[in-house]
Amino acid sequence: MASAAPAPPLVVTEIFRSIQGESSFAGLPCTFVRLTGCALRCVWCDSAYAFHGGTTRTLEDVLLNVDRLGVPLVELTGGEPLEQEGVYPLAAALCDRGYIVLLETGGHVPLDRVDPRVIKVVDIKCPGSGMESRNDLANLNLLGPNDEVKFVVADRRDFDWAVDFVETHRLDEKHKVLISPVFEGATSKIAAEVAEWVRDSKRKLRLNLQVHKFLWGDVPGR
Ligand code: SF4
Repeated sequence: MASAAPAPPLVVTEIFRSIQGESSFAGLPCTFVRLTGCALRCVWCDSAYAFHGGTTRTLEDVLLNVDRLGVPLVELTGGEPLEQEGVYPLAAALCDRGYIVLLETGGHVPLDRVDPRVIKVVDIKCPGSGMESRNDLANLNLLGPNDEVKFVVADRRDFDWAVDFVETHRLDEKHKVLISPVFEGATSKIAAEVAEWVRDSKRKLRLNLQVHKFLWGDVPGR
């Protein structure tokens, strides 16, 4: 009998244990698996160091590394994790092992092959990112009640655009909606303003600050 084909290898920028800085899981210890490469170029991207390079690793090697770090929460991130074929068996294998698995994705790759046990945190790119045209709106129909939608906002125009989008698609009735002010290094010049906009929005929005940036600044591996 033919044996099953080996899982595709993964190109990995880094695997590390830290504190989850974003989403409704913020504050929890979390292991991050950052995969290499992304087809987008968001103006404010804070992980451009993951666009190139990385180390080719087997699925088993990545699982071993995650197991050794010993944290029940794991986030698959990048770069854009869904651009690598190996991420699908990796996500399923982590779920099989009992991990709570978060997937941070830019929203331009179809979500239809992601294991349903994975909690998806999906960007909707606002105009200020320069990548608005890359939003795959078909993904909105593939989100479950545990999934979260994130808007990174650079200014008031982005915030108003995000609120319009939330209203049009009734996102805050179905999912957690995260509003994330752009950070520059360890600070965000607009975080306080965005907090007030969220407060006054009359929508069910959640201010999403990048806790790890306050703690450690804008450095890899944190
Ligand atoms: S999708 Fe994410 S990794 Fe890719 S350029 Fe945008 S912010 Fe950076």
